Amino acid sequence: MPYNTYPYELPPLCYPYDAFEPYIDAETMHYHHDKHFAAYIDNLNKALEPHPQLQKLTLEQLLSRSLPPAVREPILRNGGGVYNHCKFFDGLAPVRLAATSRNPTLNAMLDKHFGGLEAFKKEFSQTAIDLFGSGWACLALTRQGALKIITLHNQETVLPLGAVPVILFDVWEHAYYLKYKNDRAGYVHNLWNLIVTPKLHESL
Ligand code: MN
Repeated sequence: MPYNTYPYELPPLCYPYDAFEPYIDAETMHYHHDKHFAAYIDNLNKALEPHPQLQKLTLEQLLSRSLPPAVREPILRNGGGVYNHCKFFDGLAPVRLAATSRNPTLNAMLDKHFGGLEAFKKEFSQTAIDLFGSGWACLALTRQGALKIITLHNQETVLPLGAVPVILFDVWEHAYYLKYKNDRAGYVHNLWNLIVTPKLHESL
């Protein structure tokens, strides 16, 4: 993954901006990827520029360990933004591809942990809709092999919990407001059409 060490570069979007229409419009994709995501990359690089010793760490290491107080906030906010957006954009695919990439192993785990795919989607969606302010709904895989739905505020990540994200829904307003305005629930509902579920070993 190109995001993994300093200096960070904006990973190219693997699909055309309009690939996710009608669920995510091209203008939103343009602003989300080229402006918002890019700003996290730029600001992470700026935060790391005066700290050669921190530049040697991978993004996962930066987000998992304690950092000097003077740089902690800018690195966690912007590094978290980089990490979450990498995972979010990697997890999207045009409808037909998303529909054919369901992962049987994950589905079996969702059955076990949530009582089935539909029950999981309902609980996950409600978590995303209920999140107050800006943040992410995350299906996380823990080191113990459990699946958990976790609410992340702002640009928190699941890395300090010793977990990795399997599915991330961005519910910052910049992810949906141009098309959906205040209808976060409509956006969350439609996002399921575009979600690919990675093989679990790729998440670990
Ligand atoms: Mn975003």
